Amino acid sequence: MLSAPDATSIELAKRLNAHARLFEVVSSSPLGASFHEVVLRGDPALAGVPGNDVMVRLVDAKGRNVRRRYSVRSVEEEQGLVTLWIVTSHEGAGAHWAREAKPGDQVDLVGPRGKITLDPLADWYLFAGDTSGLASFYRLAESIESPGRAIFIVEVDDINDALTAPFDEGLGVTGIFIERRGRAYDDPAGLLSGLAAFEMPANEGHAYLFGEFHVIRALGAALSDRGLPEQQQSHKAFWRAGRHNAEHGEPEKDL
Ligand SMILES: Cc1cc2nc3c(=O)[nH]c(=O)nc-3n(C[C@H](O)[C@H](O)[C@H](O)COP(=O)(O)OP(=O)(O)OC[C@H]3O[C@@H](n4cnc5c(N)ncnc54)[C@H](O)[C@@H]3O)c2cc1C
Repeated sequence: MLSAPDATSIELAKRLNAHARLFEVVSSSPLGASFHEVVLRGDPALAGVPGNDVMVRLVDAKGRNVRRRYSVRSVEEEQGLVTLWIVTSHEGAGAHWAREAKPGDQVDLVGPRGKITLDPLADWYLFAGDTSGLASFYRLAESIESPGRAIFIVEVDDINDALTAPFDEGLGVTGIFIERRGRAYDDPAGLLSGLAAFEMPANEGHAYLFGEFHVIRALGAALSDRGLPEQQQSHKAFWRAGRHNAEHGEPEKDL
């Protein structure tokens, strides 16, 4: 039984102006075809605001300490419960941890992390990417003030991953799930065709693009070509096809 987060987490949290805390696993259950829903109990302050994530300290297959970042899907402040949706269909330290996590396991978290939050001035919101972005897309969309409009364009490996969320009645929701059908993970063709079919409303919108490194770049460029200014786009590469994320939890950015 640990009694405090690792010294490296405390140091990291100080540097990031965040908190380091031990959390306890409440449950980890399969969700859809490719996810696990992991519920943790601990200090809810680490969940921050919609769009934020937590950094989980793990050990990889070579015994090295690595950190993986997971967006917070939801938080129940009073019970101190924080829920994550983790893609577990590949082999990696994060996927392994989520599949194997047992009630009572302890885990070392740093948070809240992340600079992308909801643009309060937008009239409509586009959320596009792959399933790794779904937790953040839904938590952000749940924080849109009524009446509002949210459009989701998400590529899924399996139609059972087309998870939905119970949104407020005042939110007009359009959801388009695109099946990957064997396309490579760094092939943006599926999501680009979804975007092409999307008629951009005339008033001011904000696009949130989260998912695979190359695909997110291609989606951002396509939206810029269609006239959506940079300041109305928030992009983040969550992972990169064929590579482990780096030790600090982000994909490498070299080409
Ligand atoms: C800010 C931020 C928020 C994030 N939020 C989430 C989240 O809410 N849910 C979530 O699942 N992930 C999220 N991620 C991605 C997550 O941090 C990990 O990168 C991812 O889970 C893979 O970690 P891993 O240790 O399992 O695999 P790694 O060791 O990083 O990679 C192992 C192999 O698996 C492949 N791989 C990695 N991810 C996927 C995937 N999604 N689909 C198919 N192949 C993959 C890699 O290309 C590599 O070949 C987020 C990342 C960032 C930076």
